Amino acid sequence: MNKGKAYTGVDMFRVAAAFLVVAIHTSPLASFTEVGDFIVTRVVARIAVPFFFMTSGYFLISRYAPNAGRLQAFEKKTAAVYGAAIALYLPLNLYNRYFSMDHLLPNLIKDLVFDGTMYHLWYLPAAMLGAAVAWLLVRKCGFRCALQAAGLLYLAGLLGDSYYGVVKQTPWLQSCYAALFELSDYTRNGVFFAPLFFVLGGWLAGRAQTPAKGAVQASLKKSLAGFALSLLLMLGEGLLLRGWGFQRHDSMYLFLPLCVYFLFCALLCWRGPRRETLRTAALLLYIVHPMAIVLVRLAAKITGLTPWLVNNSLAHYLAVCAVSAAVSFPLAGAYQKWAQKRKMALRPACQRAWIELNLNHLLHNARELKKAMPPKCRLMAVVKAEAYGHGAYEVAAALNQNGVKAFAVATVEEGIRLRRYGVTGEILILGYTDPARAKDLFFYHLTQTLIDYDYAVRLNRQGYPLRAHIKIDTGMHRLGFAWEDVDKVAAAYGMRRLKIRGVFTHLCVSGSLRPEDVCFTKTQLQRFGRLLGALKDRGLPVAGVHVQSSYGLLNYPQLQCSYVRAGVALYGVLSSPGDETRLQLDLRPVLSLKSKIVLIRRIKAGETVGYGRLFTAERDSTIAVLPIGYADGYPRRLSGGKASVLINGQEAPVIGAVCMDQLTVDITDIPQAKVGMTATLIGADGGREISAPDVADAAQSITNELLSRMGRRLTVTR
Ligand SMILES: *Cc1c(COP(=O)(O)O)cnc(C)c1O
Repeated sequence: MNKGKAYTGVDMFRVAAAFLVVAIHTSPLASFTEVGDFIVTRVVARIAVPFFFMTSGYFLISRYAPNAGRLQAFEKKTAAVYGAAIALYLPLNLYNRYFSMDHLLPNLIKDLVFDGTMYHLWYLPAAMLGAAVAWLLVRKCGFRCALQAAGLLYLAGLLGDSYYGVVKQTPWLQSCYAALFELSDYTRNGVFFAPLFFVLGGWLAGRAQTPAKGAVQASLKKSLAGFALSLLLMLGEGLLLRGWGFQRHDSMYLFLPLCVYFLFCALLCWRGPRRETLRTAALLLYIVHPMAIVLVRLAAKITGLTPWLVNNSLAHYLAVCAVSAAVSFPLAGAYQKWAQKRKMALRPACQRAWIELNLNHLLHNARELKKAMPPKCRLMAVVKAEAYGHGAYEVAAALNQNGVKAFAVATVEEGIRLRRYGVTGEILILGYTDPARAKDLFFYHLTQTLIDYDYAVRLNRQGYPLRAHIKIDTGMHRLGFAWEDVDKVAAAYGMRRLKIRGVFTHLCVSGSLRPEDVCFTKTQLQRFGRLLGALKDRGLPVAGVHVQSSYGLLNYPQLQCSYVRAGVALYGVLSSPGDETRLQLDLRPVLSLKSKIVLIRRIKAGETVGYGRLFTAERDSTIAVLPIGYADGYPRRLSGGKASVLINGQEAPVIGAVCMDQLTVDITDIPQAKVGMTATLIGADGGREISAPDVADAAQSITNELLSRMGRRLTVTR
């Protein structure tokens, strides 16, 4: 998400893993040492494929309700690659008389689903099947249970693989496995082998936070130590099993999952630039290397170099690697270029109208607010209404990755969406949630606001252990328990199913410094204080106290609370342009609203423009059409010359009526304006800036409304 935060380690190791797979199929040490070759290709190199599974799992299977869309895309892409790979190897299949085998149809189906039509292609159906099984397990029963189930499948797989010796000693088991092997040649497939690694990857993704700098070092050390130890154990295991003659196949070991897990953790510590070409190259290496083996052998035969290029196993391995790499890397580079070109089509230059986010400003504002808060107070980022129109995903993910661990939303759907995006930490729903949705609150670890006593009773009855904050009405008279009603608040603390993690109130005139408003706010604070005192007197564990929203902090920074619920200030703007606040922070606007000129036309003096003929040209004029309108959140109230946009750093007045999908601006005084040029409706261009509060004010509204209405039709770019 952030620049410089890609998974460089994982990307780099993909290529190493692909070369390990080549080793499995060429046995580089075979002409020198048999045990050495066993260790390298039958044990160490076995890390490669599970590593691929785990990587896919890490990006696919999220902690909270796995994202079905991403899974579908993965299945589709893998199926396409599988199809292409099958086609690539058809000539070889024909040459090997694959299609003249007995029972062709059942064997073909079996190969397509489990074993692959070429010896290495099993990986692709296994990835598809493994991802689906893991996804279903996590979705149906959560991570812990999915890990157990996938672990059991893996154990069953082990018995058909490296531990087959155990099965051979038990006749009934042996007949079970014999039946199984009718369906799939090995247990190393998408049912027994892959799911565990997918689930492990997804589980890790849910836990992985961006650790502090010192913690990275510590975590790297621990992971490397864990990897070394488990690799040693796996080596011992492999050699023992080989000695005992237990192995039917050698893909699965007891210590393999542990080994891959620690390796993956270590690789996660290496963050840096994105290496997308390496990803594609690794996949291509995997797919083409058997073809390279054939080519190297063929070339050796033709040139008479067989003794060197084939019989010397190490030279053979290196030659196959070289040929595979010579095909894969240029192809991957070309693919990358093509993909980038396609992506360009989505860039601002090709958009009609878009929101531009400055996430550096967002993070700056978060730091600025934290500096203004008492040391123990935490920032609760209010990201309701698509993060005030900025895009909940972009905002919440950036904040979450930079240490913000508390969020507030308005509805249960908004909370669920954040979880699906992988946001961790506390998510408080500020508004009403139907008690019938208790299961969702529980499943997604959402914290519900108790809006009054009766509501608390109903929620408690649902039978799910739920986290909640109690809302107190201290004079706003919207949501909350009445502040005088200590008995009822205390009763909520005693409800069996509700874990009360916070208690809060909302100020209704904290934005105003007029004496009577300050007086009212003080009354609200006193009432809230009195209630807290009464609760403490009863010995109740009063924690998680919060009162201030943005203006609460800016005007009453001295309050000692557990959280500040900051919304509008986090986005770097005030609600109205002239607002005075006691504290003045260096807040920077996060959002810009842009569109571009799609048409320029000239009109004569006296002609009119748009619906209602609101604008009449006083002189011969040049006007430009921008394809953005009130359906995108640009208020219709700005019709009739109440606003301007910036083009080429100069102001162009909005003329006529703002339509649903377009508006017109006067560019008579901007001769440089051309079709395709960007128009800034909110934000800076050249030395000038149009602020969201100014636009909101001109539309007789406040920034909060203007921003939160930014239509879904806009794309968000960073
Ligand atoms: C929306 C909201 C906030 C955030 O308000 P801002 O003025 O945008 O900081 C805080 N608390 C509650 C209860 C809210 O509904």
